[in-house]
Parts: sequence; C-alpha cells; structure tokens
Amino acid sequence: MANAFWCVVEDDRAGHPKKVMAEVLAEATRLSGGGAEAVWLTDRAAAEGLTRLTEWGARKIWLLEHAALDPYRGEVWTAVLADLVAAQRPRAILGAVTSRQRELLARLAARLGVGFAADTVGLELDGDRLVATRPVYAGKLLAKVTWARPPWIATLRPNVFKPAASQAGREPAVERPAVTVPEGALRLVERREEVSTGLPELSEAELVVSGGRGLKGPENFVILERLAAVIGAAVGASRAAVDAGWRPHRFQIGQTGRTISPKLYLGFGISGAIQHLAGMRTSKVIVAVNKDPEAPIFKIADYGIVGDLFEVAPALTDEFKKLLGK
Ligand SMILES: Cc1cc2nc3c(=O)[nH]c(=O)nc-3n(C[C@H](O)[C@H](O)[C@H](O)COP(=O)(O)OP(=O)(O)OC[C@H]3O[C@@H](n4cnc5c(N)ncnc54)[C@H](O)[C@@H]3O)c2cc1C
Repeated sequence: MANAFWCVVEDDRAGHPKKVMAEVLAEATRLSGGGAEAVWLTDRAAAEGLTRLTEWGARKIWLLEHAALDPYRGEVWTAVLADLVAAQRPRAILGAVTSRQRELLARLAARLGVGFAADTVGLELDGDRLVATRPVYAGKLLAKVTWARPPWIATLRPNVFKPAASQAGREPAVERPAVTVPEGALRLVERREEVSTGLPELSEAELVVSGGRGLKGPENFVILERLAAVIGAAVGASRAAVDAGWRPHRFQIGQTGRTISPKLYLGFGISGAIQHLAGMRTSKVIVAVNKDPEAPIFKIADYGIVGDLFEVAPALTDEFKKLLGK
C-alpha cells in the first residue's frame, strides 16, 4: 500500500484547476507528510494548470487525459479512476464538495466497496486511522467517522480548510498512464453552456449574497446582483425562490442545493428554514435582513437587520461603494 494521499482535481472545464484544489492539496500534504498527489481526469490540461497544482503542493500529478473524458459521465470517469486506484493503491482519495465530485467519489467508493465521508469539515489522523468530521441532521450535529479499510475517500467542503500557500519554482512531475475509456451507457444529446454571470462561483465564493421569497419576483434579484458586483460576491437563492422559477437550481443553497461556507453570507428575505440552514450554517459571518423580527434566521445570524430588503439592500450597496471607493 502506497502512502499517497490523492486529490482528484476539480477544474473549470477549460484546463485549469479550481482554487478549492489549493485547500484539498494543503490538507492532503498535511495529513500525508508531503505525500499529496493530484489526479486529473480531463480532455485537456493547460500547462499552467499543471504548474498551479505543483505550486499548491502536488508532488506528482497523475494526468489522465483523453478526448472521451469530455463530457463528464460518472460511470466512465469512475471506471478510469478505479483502474488507477487498482494499479497504485493510494491510502486516501480526497476531493471537493462539488456536484461532479460528490457523484464521482461516491461512485468510486461503491465500486471499491469502501467507505465515503461526504462533506467533511475536518480531517485528523488518529494513529493509523483517518477520522473525518462531517455535519449530520442538516448541520445540527457534527459526527466523527472513520473507515474500516483504505482507501479513505472523502469530499471536503470549500472554504473550510486552509489553502496551501503557493510555492513557485518546482517543475511539475507529471505521470501520464495509459487511459482506457470504457463505453458508457450515457450519450450526450445536447450541450448548453452556462452563461457566465461575471460573479464568483457560488460554492467557492468567499462572499455570498442570497435572496428568498421576500424578493417577490425574479426581476428583483438585480438588486442583490448590484450589491454582489460591488463587493465581489456570488448570488445564491433559497429553494422557495428556485421553485418559483426565479433562479436556476444551481444557485440554490441548502439541503437539496449547494453547501457553502463563505467568509460572509448576507441573506435577504429568507426565513431560515432548517433545510436552508443546512447549506450555509458553517458560514463564518452570517448577516440576515428580514422584516419579521421573529424570523428563525436571526437565531443563527451574527448580525440581523430588521427591515425592508428593498430599502436595506440598496442602502448597503451605496455604503459599500463609498467604503470601497467604487
Ligand atoms: C425535503 C426538503 C428539502 C428542502 N431543501 C431546501 C434547500 O435546499 N434550500 C432551501 O432554501 N429550502 C429548502 N427547503 C424548503 C424550506 O423548508 C423553506 O420552504 C424555504 O427555505 C423557504 O424559503 P424562503 O426563506 O425564501 O421563503 P419563506 O419561508 O417564505 O420566507 C420569506 C421571508 O422573507 C421575509 N420577507 C418578505 N418580504 C420582505 C421584505 N420586503 N424585506 C425583508 N424580508 C422580507 C419574510 O418575513 C420571510 O421570513 C426544503 C424543504 C424540504 C421539505
């Protein structure tokens, strides 16, 4: 059994690893005593992407590059990754809490017949065991879990683990094993590119502005987008806003949406149902704006503003503009 801690690379689908990989690689480096390796399944890796992974601590990069790895298909990627696991036998396989890796690593664990700790917020070695801390019961409790046998497979919640300080100067050590891509049952029917909002990606953002039913209609999200643009935040939504068709599902925060852990979460017109809190309660600072002083979100908010969001949000936007000189 090799002692390597693998980090499965989440990229932007254009050849560049996402910044959450700095957090996953730092954790793998810490736990393995410098044995972090990146595993990158992609149809195209950019040279600067390889450099970035190396700067973030990957002492080796397993580059599984093949045209048939685009688009992502869970069944195909799992088979390719499982082949490499069988050949190299890493001790741990870590990823990030993203839509793709949530599926991929769960599939891999099932295929290997080992445990999977999803959505971890802490990892520690206890003798020769790895112990993961993960929220249960919609975040009301933290459970510590361990694995009966390796490889230890886990996804890490973005913005929780300390990212690696970039270390320039090392040449990437890239291994390119032969990739056999199996036939998949899934066929690509149509591809629709997401229109970029120009704002940060929700699950990675350090600042998040979020809107709920209190916004009263899709047209009013522009009020939050203006605020988000000034402070460089992503915009999220409650399920009520998503179910009403005001925002696409990828912006939903909560138990059946995205899990986020930004430095600052600003919620407007969101009551604070337990299913919403499940997706954002580990935010470092929570600010809630609601006209109902009894709204449950105030129970977990660090700062609460009882008021009409249609007055408070523009006022905050103006103040931030002044403060930031914009
Ligand atoms: C199985 C299951 C899974 C779920 N998953 C999720 C999930 O992933 N994410 C999620 O968010 N929900 C989820 N829900 C739904 C959840 O229970 C709530 O229904 C939902 O979060 C409510 O959204 P909301 O806070 O926007 O709306 P509401 O609960 O209707 O709250 C609207 C709030 O806006 C305030 N308001 C109204 N007007 C103004 C104004 N002008 N200014 C300021 N405040 C104003 C009101 O006082 C109120 O508190 C799930 C539910 C179930 C059963």
